[in-house]
Amino acid sequence: VSRRIVIEDQTSPRIRIAAGTLEAITRAVDHQLHDVAKAWGAYVFDLVDDVRRSGWHVVLLDDADQAGALGYHDVTPDGAPYARVFVRDIVDNGGDLTLFGGSVSSVVSHEVCEMIGDPGANRWANDAAGTLWALELCDAVESDWYAIDGTAVSNFVWPAYFNPFAEGPYDQMGLIAEPFGIAPGGYAIKSELGKVTPIFGDDYPAWKIAGKVAAGARTAARMNWGSGA
Ligand SMILES: [Zn+2]
Repeated sequence: VSRRIVIEDQTSPRIRIAAGTLEAITRAVDHQLHDVAKAWGAYVFDLVDDVRRSGWHVVLLDDADQAGALGYHDVTPDGAPYARVFVRDIVDNGGDLTLFGGSVSSVVSHEVCEMIGDPGANRWANDAAGTLWALELCDAVESDWYAIDGTAVSNFVWPAYFNPFAEGPYDQMGLIAEPFGIAPGGYAIKSELGKVTPIFGDDYPAWKIAGKVAAGARTAARMNWGSGA
C-alpha cells in the first residue's frame, strides 16, 4: 500500500517559508521515512510539497488553534489522518525553521512519524503491568533530534519501545534505556483503569504542559475518549 503525505504551506505571506527551505524540510522528512520504514516495516510513502488535495495532509499554518501546541495530528470526522504545524508559535518559542529540536522541520517530522505509527490516533500498547500507553512515535522523545543533510528531524521510538519484554534499542538515537521510558524533554499519554492522563519528563516545559491539559487540546481530547466526556 502506498499512501501520500502532502506538506501544504498555508502560512500568510508575512510568515511564508522560502521555497528552498520547504524543499529541504520535505527532503529531510522524506528521507526520515526510510529510517521509520527500517524500524517499523515496509511502509511506502511518496512525500510531496505541492497542493494535490489528496493523501494525508500536513498543513503549515501561522497560529495554533489551541494554546501551547506547536503541532498535532488527528483524524477528520471520517477518519482521514491529517496534521497541523504552527509556524509562528514555533518561532515565537525560540524555534528555528530547520535547526535543532522545536524547529519547524522537527515538528513536521514529529507529526509525520506519528501519523504513520498511529494513523487513527487510537492505538495503545499494554506494558504487561496493566497500563496502556498511547502509540505515539515521537512524544516520549520529542525534544531530541538528529540532522538529515543539515535539517533537523525528531527522534522517534522503535517497536521495541512498546514491547515490555523487548531488548533495545528503543529509539532511533538510542537514548531511551527501557520500554515506555520517557526522555527528560518528552511526555506520554497513559491509561490506567480507564483513566487517561499525560505524564511528563523532568525537563518538560511548563507552557507546553498547560497546553496539553487545556480544554479542547488534542491530548485532552484523547484523555476524554471512553469516559463519556
Ligand atoms: Zn506527538
